Amino acid sequence: MERIIIIGGGLAAVSAAKTLRTEGFEGTVTVLSEEGQFPYDRPPLSKAVLQGTADAQSTCLLNAEAAQNLGIDLQLNQRVEAIDRDAHVVRLSSGASLPYDRLLIATGSRARMLDGPFAGKANVFYLRTIADAERLRAQMVPGKRLLSIGAGWIGLEVAATARKSGMEAVVVELADRLCARSLPKDVGVALADVHRGNGTVIHLNTSIVTVGGDDRVESVTLSNGETLLVDMVVVGIGAIANDAIAREAGLETGNGIIVDEFLRTSDPLIFAAGDVAAMRVGGGQPTRMESWANAQDQAAAAARNLLGKREPYAINTWFWSDQYDLNIQMIGDNQPAGGTLLVRKGEGKSFTRFSAIGDRLVGAICFGAPRDMAIVRRLMSKGYAVTDDSLITAPDLRKLL
Ligand SMILES: Cc1cc2nc3c(=O)[nH]c(=O)nc-3n(C[C@H](O)[C@H](O)[C@H](O)COP(=O)(O)OP(=O)(O)OC[C@H]3O[C@@H](n4cnc5c(N)ncnc54)[C@H](O)[C@@H]3O)c2cc1C
Repeated sequence: MERIIIIGGGLAAVSAAKTLRTEGFEGTVTVLSEEGQFPYDRPPLSKAVLQGTADAQSTCLLNAEAAQNLGIDLQLNQRVEAIDRDAHVVRLSSGASLPYDRLLIATGSRARMLDGPFAGKANVFYLRTIADAERLRAQMVPGKRLLSIGAGWIGLEVAATARKSGMEAVVVELADRLCARSLPKDVGVALADVHRGNGTVIHLNTSIVTVGGDDRVESVTLSNGETLLVDMVVVGIGAIANDAIAREAGLETGNGIIVDEFLRTSDPLIFAAGDVAAMRVGGGQPTRMESWANAQDQAAAAARNLLGKREPYAINTWFWSDQYDLNIQMIGDNQPAGGTLLVRKGEGKSFTRFSAIGDRLVGAICFGAPRDMAIVRRLMSKGYAVTDDSLITAPDLRKLL
């Protein structure tokens, strides 16, 4: 095997390319990214970069020099239009074709867009790329009124950054809670309290009924009858897997590219990892994660398996978010059916919330308690048995290790 092509220019692509080299692969590694920027990290885009406390350059994951030192052929502005599985080539938007022996698809996901009255309006923003963050940041002026549509992680982080930047912020969410797909209801309530305490207005169970303005959104009327005047709108209603080239190439897809526990697609020469990959283990439902830690680890595992290892991958469930001065971290299953809940109070409004099934610790959320996460990980990996309420009462969690 001589030629490995990685499609995509995000964290997963970089993690895989670096891993191929650390594993000693000496053949050609080509990374094809449709973006014009060197690969960069996305989490700071809704936090420090948006607030202006970090510049966009600081997010770079692989620059020209680092790529050269690692012998990675990094090609920017190269969109892969098609995968020809019979000829073992990828076809680029430039018209060129490149042959591969093994292929990794790490095309990530893109922001889901709102159509209807929001489409094409000059002050409606999405946040996925550096260019999005820079456009948005230019509008983040103290006193302006921001409307966040969707109380998912991105919408909430942008609202928090807006408040920190001296703006007014309102979040409108259809569901009855924040981050409905990933946070248990009680933690959603605690997070809503933090937002309200910082002056963000949150409307749950609410839809937007009418939109006022011609080229720009100037006002919205909500299903509760309230009318809001707005200067800018950020839409954070989820992400869609960039799986079209895989689907068109006849690979098995369905909300992402279906891979097995070795990150192999339905074609044994083609692997997928990161936001675009939906991993099926056994007969279970495919799981697609949209998180930094999973993109990094899954792509590294895919790279090793591309090289012929048979290393089953277990999804990395660790996730974090920063909003105002609050850091939230979560790991494992935090809404297990029939599970037990133990909540350890920390300083102020902080807490660490453990989930157990029987005596098995299966998940935890550290809400304003980032230092607990390192201990939680160790407790989980050593198989800590939850036989009493020590997780709540122990004066020092480390003593349980
Ligand atoms: C604003 C923001 C904040 C976030 N904050 C957090 C956080 O706090 N914590 C956390 O855990 N996660 C966070 N995430 C999620 C995390 O950043 C993603 O899970 C991670 O970036 C996924 O990496 P990826 O490489 O799989 O995909 P992506 O980062 O989406 O990269 C895919 C790349 O492939 C390119 N591409 C797509 N199609 C083609 C093609 N046909 N040809 C060539 N190139 C193509 C894309 O342009 C893109 O550059 C955040 C994401 C965003 C957008």
